[in-house]
Parts: sequence; C-alpha cells; structure tokens
Amino acid sequence: MLRPRYRKPFVATKSSVFSGSREKLRGELRVNEPMARHVSWRAGGSVAQAYLPMDLDDLLGFMRTLRHDEPLMVVGLGSNLLVRDGGYNGTVVFMHGVRRGLSELRLEPDGTIYAEAGVASPKLARFAANNQRAEAEFLAGIPGTVGGALTMNAGCYGGETWNYVERVLMITRQGEKVIRQREDFTIGYRHVGLNAASDEVFAAAWFRFPVGEIETARQRISELLKRRIAQQPLQYPNAGSVFRNPAGDHAARLIEAAGLKGAWLDGAQVSEKHANFIVNPDGKASATAIEMLIGRIVAAVFEKQGVELMREVRIVGEMPRSERGSQALDDRFEVKASK
Ligand SMILES: Cc1cc2nc3c(=O)[nH]c(=O)nc-3n(C[C@H](O)[C@H](O)[C@H](O)COP(=O)(O)OP(=O)(O)OC[C@H]3O[C@@H](n4cnc5c(N)ncnc54)[C@H](O)[C@@H]3O)c2cc1C
Repeated sequence: MLRPRYRKPFVATKSSVFSGSREKLRGELRVNEPMARHVSWRAGGSVAQAYLPMDLDDLLGFMRTLRHDEPLMVVGLGSNLLVRDGGYNGTVVFMHGVRRGLSELRLEPDGTIYAEAGVASPKLARFAANNQRAEAEFLAGIPGTVGGALTMNAGCYGGETWNYVERVLMITRQGEKVIRQREDFTIGYRHVGLNAASDEVFAAAWFRFPVGEIETARQRISELLKRRIAQQPLQYPNAGSVFRNPAGDHAARLIEAAGLKGAWLDGAQVSEKHANFIVNPDGKASATAIEMLIGRIVAAVFEKQGVELMREVRIVGEMPRSERGSQALDDRFEVKASK
C-alpha cells in the first residue's frame, strides 16, 4: 500500500525509491523529506511524505491512492514558499524534480504552447522566443514552474502569466483530468481563484503569445535578466518579493522608509540590495526566524506609515513546539546596516 503515513514526531528515515509495481506507479515516494532542499530560501521543516511523479499519468495514478482526507500540497520549484520548522503533516507532490515530472512542452497545431506544470518558467520563455513568440520574455526572470506561475499569476516588467492563458488542464484529488477555460477563474494581482469550490490543481496550460521575432525576444530576455541581476540579491537564498506592492506604492520603499533595510533576525536579513527581499546569506536561518522577521516588518511599516503590507510568499505547516509563544528569538532582532 502506497502510504507510509507519516506521523509526528517526524523521524528521519532514509528516502526510498518506491517500487510500486503493484499500483503501477513509476515515481518516487519519500518520507520525512526536508523541504529546505526544495525551497529557494533553503530553510524550513520536513513534509511527511513527498511524491515525485514520473509524468502526468503517473501522478493521476498516485492521486487515486490518496485518502480523501490526506492534506495535499503541490510544489513547483519552491521559489515562493516556506514550510515552518515544525513541518507539514501531509503529502507534497513535486511537479518538477529528479524524476521527469510534468515536463511536456510543445507547440500545438493551433499556435498555442502547451506547457505542463513542472516546466520551469524561464524554459517556457526561451521556448516561446525560439518559436517566434513575443511577450513571454518576462517569464525568463521568474525562477519557478508553470504551475507556480499559474497559481500566483506571476508577473513582472508589465507581463502577467494569465494575460496569455487560453485554457488549463486541472487534476482532481480523485485523479481525474478537467479542462477549464480562462473565464472559469477570477484573476488578480498575484492571485488566481477558481470560480467554483474545488480542490483541483494545475497540471498544464495552453498559452497564446503573439507572433514575434526570435532575435528580438532573445535580446529582451537578456536585458531583463541583466536588470534582475543589478536589482536583486540573487547570490543569496531568497524567495523573491516577500510582500505585494500596495496600490500606488512599493513595498520595498515602505520597508526602507521604516528603517529596516539590512535588519537581521537570527540569520535572516532584510536585503540591503532590495528591501522587499529577505535573504538567508549563510543558509542557517530557520523558517521561524524568517517568519518572525516578516512579522517585524509588517508591524514596523504599519506603525510608521499606516500601511498594512500583504504577504506574497506562502507559508505553510506548523511552528516547532519550542518556538511557540517564545520571546527568545524575537529578542534577537537587530536593525543595523551590515552583518
Ligand atoms: C529571485 C526571485 C525572483 C522572483 N521574481 C518574481 C517576479 O518577478 N514576479 C513574480 O510574480 N514572482 C517572482 N518570484 C516568486 C516566484 O518565483 C513565483 O511566485 C513563481 O511563480 C512560483 O513558482 P514555483 O514553482 O516556485 O511555486 P512554489 O513556490 O513551489 O509554490 C507557490 C504556491 O503555488 C502552489 N503551487 C505550485 N504549483 C502548483 C500547481 N501545479 N497547482 C496548484 N498549486 C501549485 C504551491 O502549493 C504554493 O502555494 C521570485 C522568486 C525569486 C526567488
């Protein structure tokens, strides 16, 4: 039975390749998988069980083995995600991974590009450019997957993922495929919601980008990447912009004006290069420290500017027991310009 039901406390066990010939599953099942390996912040706790599907059919098969009440989370490249140090007591499915994952990417006869959820967004940008498609260039600088971009309506430099989505392929908890149109969703700034109660997740999308020129698109990709390198602290583990920009303003400006640029909390730092980024320079920050620093920023910006910052990064899982209600870590908050 494909269910090494994880139970607390998490006990580190060796990752195992699942030989699921019984269920005809071809992916890899791991128990107590540390999520610091899978999120761009390189911090956080473990998940009870993780499945790395071989492909879409394999994932459908796996979904059919899940109990209806099993907590389920789908993860792309973890570039917008933090799992608390107490871990996530459920199942995670990795769309992009050591197994092939959901990696199909092709130009369809109707001119759309079909991209599965595990395809990295920069790969989709380059594929579109090479196939004489324009306006996909912005995706080159977003270091997640197509599934993550669909979930977050990821965007930058004037481009937004859902501006180009014609339809999507969703999968249900029961392992069924459902095709949905753009009109089935409410689409907003870094937010997308299905207009129906459902527990479906994104498996793929058909994108329609306007026809363009290969060289122009390639040049734009390289310009956008240069801008990112100049503006963002890409040398350190981070999760991009921590907060959404409030209407008519920039979260980075507000954080800087609150005097928090460079502030530290136990290994987590408000980036000196871009104040809306929290970095983990030595790779030693805990998820708790990162979350507490986020809380400090929200409180300081509200106190000084009266603006309530809304988080863009997703935080899931449980706080470790030792840190619940603890003042100790919060007391290690320091505001200073450098390390
Ligand atoms: C250096 C850096 C720069 C960034 N710049 C930008 C930027 O310019 N613009 C921007 O919008 N974002 C930016 N981000 C944030 C992040 O890259 C995007 O939000 C990205 O789209 C997340 O994709 P992911 O695959 O990493 O998602 P994950 O972090 O793995 O997941 C994010 C959320 O989506 C859910 N999810 C993931 N895949 C699926 C799926 N297939 N079906 C259902 N739910 C799913 C997860 O459960 C989670 O809740 C940046 C991040 C970094 C580290």
